[in-house]
Amino acid sequence: MSDPSTTGPAEHTEATRPLAPARPQTPAEAWQALKAGNRRFVEGTVAHPNQDAARRADLTEGQRPFATFFGCSDSRVAAEVIFDQGLGDLFVVRTAGHVVGPTELGSLEFGAEVLDIPLIVVLGHDNCGAVSATIQAFEGGSMPGGFLRDLVERVIPSVIKAGRDGIPMSNVHDVMTEHVKQTVHLILERSSGCADRVADGRLAIVGLTYTLTDGSAELVEVAGDIGELPAS
Ligand SMILES: [Zn+2]
Repeated sequence: MSDPSTTGPAEHTEATRPLAPARPQTPAEAWQALKAGNRRFVEGTVAHPNQDAARRADLTEGQRPFATFFGCSDSRVAAEVIFDQGLGDLFVVRTAGHVVGPTELGSLEFGAEVLDIPLIVVLGHDNCGAVSATIQAFEGGSMPGGFLRDLVERVIPSVIKAGRDGIPMSNVHDVMTEHVKQTVHLILERSSGCADRVADGRLAIVGLTYTLTDGSAELVEVAGDIGELPAS
């Protein structure tokens, strides 16, 4: 018997390889798969599915990911890790503060229309630097220089909406939650391709907020039908 401390984790052979779960087909199935993955991550029982050489080989001919992530670039908010998924499972678009521009919308439409992905997840998180920088600019009345300005300009409408709804700027979590909701709305408003698919049930768009301390993702917005609504 070999010493596991020197050989490292064994690759599954074709005979011992666990059967990968079938690819979720509907928005509701995709949501359930992500929820289960996040639960494993929170509870420390991750399965690391679809991360072996056999999966890599299976994917050489093409990809059929089941969810698109549109999330913040923050290094602590990596979709495949937080939702315990592997190669070929998630189509991921990330910018600081998940700001919506033409190329991001093009990527989301590519996922929905070309890859036929049934679910888009907008993923925000607490302690978001992009949201904090925007609140600072909004309150201080001065914009940052360089292309940081473009970033802040795209978050500002969410901050204004939060302020109008009576959310204090000191409550960064609630301002961030508003930004996640506004991002879901903006995708629907600007992409008729995505909106048409939501209308006929082929696609849903959900907004989630991620908590750094416990690793949980909370449902805060739903467009379309995933068989579930936000808790509050
Ligand atoms: Zn962030």
